[in-house]
Amino acid sequence: MKEQIDLLVELQEKDKALCALRWQVREGPERLREFEKEFEDLEQDARSDKERIQDLKKDQRQYEAKIEDGLADIRKSRGRLMSIKHNKEYQALSKEIEEAEKANTDCDDKILICMEKLEELNKEVAARKQGLSAMRERLEKERTAATKELARVHEKLSNIEKSRDNLIKTLDPRLLAKYEQIKGGSEGIAVALVSNATCSECHLSIPAQMYNELQKQDKLRFCPHCQRIIYWKASEAAA
Ligand SMILES: [Zn+2]
Repeated sequence: MKEQIDLLVELQEKDKALCALRWQVREGPERLREFEKEFEDLEQDARSDKERIQDLKKDQRQYEAKIEDGLADIRKSRGRLMSIKHNKEYQALSKEIEEAEKANTDCDDKILICMEKLEELNKEVAARKQGLSAMRERLEKERTAATKELARVHEKLSNIEKSRDNLIKTLDPRLLAKYEQIKGGSEGIAVALVSNATCSECHLSIPAQMYNELQKQDKLRFCPHCQRIIYWKASEAAA
């Protein structure tokens, strides 16, 4: 019986390792995907910045064109001013010129604002560009590492699966069935070491009588609290 329990303990170690490796297979790409998403978001931000720059340049060109038109009108009006004889008409045209000049000044202010924004944006774009290229490099490294790691995990998985298959061939099928049944209902852990008369899984005490009997290692015993298969290690006696 002791030998069979040792096999169960070994089986559990393998199952724990398999569970951890399968988790790695699931989570590994997940982490990479998160990183890729972060990178794509940054790229999207960079594209939006470029669009904003294009828009600002377009606005700036429009204001410049308005100023050009305004100046042409002002020149024309000033020409006409020379030939006007009536005072009222003169005043009206002077007012028109004044307004056109004021409109041009407004456009000038707007151009300045555009230029300030552009300067700020260009700085941001330059900084983002650096960040992006560093991140692109890191992403490539992460991808390569993830691929290697995944291959390594798959290899480990298949090795452990093979040795698990071999192991269960040497196990009493009824014992294996019991193990699987408990494992399914006990968060994946079917076998618990009892150390200092305490179950290592549920951390509750085993009655003294049962603890003594457990050390005989002659039959299958279960934790009275969590119902897992319990076992004892000879090294316990020495300690
Ligand atoms: Zn227990």
